[in-house]
Amino acid sequence: MKIICVGRNFKNHAKELNNEIPKEPVLFIKPDTSIIRSGDDLYIPEFTDNLQHEVEILIKISKVGKYIQPEFACNYYSEIGLGIDFTARDLQDELKEKGLPWEKSKAFDRSALIGNFVSKEKFNLDNLNFSLVKNNQIQQKGNTSEMIFSFDFLISYISQFFTLKMGDIIFTGTPSGVSKLNENDLLEGFIENERFFEVRIK
Ligand code: ZN
Repeated sequence: MKIICVGRNFKNHAKELNNEIPKEPVLFIKPDTSIIRSGDDLYIPEFTDNLQHEVEILIKISKVGKYIQPEFACNYYSEIGLGIDFTARDLQDELKEKGLPWEKSKAFDRSALIGNFVSKEKFNLDNLNFSLVKNNQIQQKGNTSEMIFSFDFLISYISQFFTLKMGDIIFTGTPSGVSKLNENDLLEGFIENERFFEVRIK
C-alpha cells in the first residue's frame, strides 16, 4: 500500500507557512514504514529540533482506479478516518529553500499516524468538523468545507499520476494551528465529537 499526501489544501495553513495558495494540489508520498497506529508512542527523531503535527482527514481507497473522473470518485472509497502527517519542519524549510524534495522531512519512519476509520455514510463529508487536541487543549480545528480541493477532485487528480489500489490512504491536508511537539505531549484526534486516535510524544 502507499500513502498519498496533499499539501496546502487549507488557505489558512498555507498562509501560516507563507506559502502561495496552490492552483493544483501539491502531492507527496509516504512509504509503509512511516505508519504508526493509535496508542503507539512517537519518539522525536534525532535529525529535527522542530517536529510538528498536521491533523488530516484520511480517505481509504476501496477499489483499483486510474484516470478516475470526479463524478465517479465517490465509488472508490467507503471509509474515512483521521491521522497526523508528522513533519520535521526545520528540515522541510531547509529542503524547500534549496528546491529539493521533501521526503526526508515528511516520509521518515513513523511519520504517518493512521487512526481509526468509519463508514463515510456516517458523516456529511462536505461539512465535517475535525480537530487535534494537544494536552487537553484544542490546537487545530478544521472543517472540510474550507478545503481548496474536495475529496472527489483529489481522488481524480491523484489517479492521473498514481494508480490507486485497495488499501491506499490519502492524507487530505491540514488546517492552521500546526505547532512544535515536545516530549510527553499527548495528542488526540476528533471527527466531530468522536475520538479517532491518541498518541504520546516521547
Ligand atoms: Zn500534511
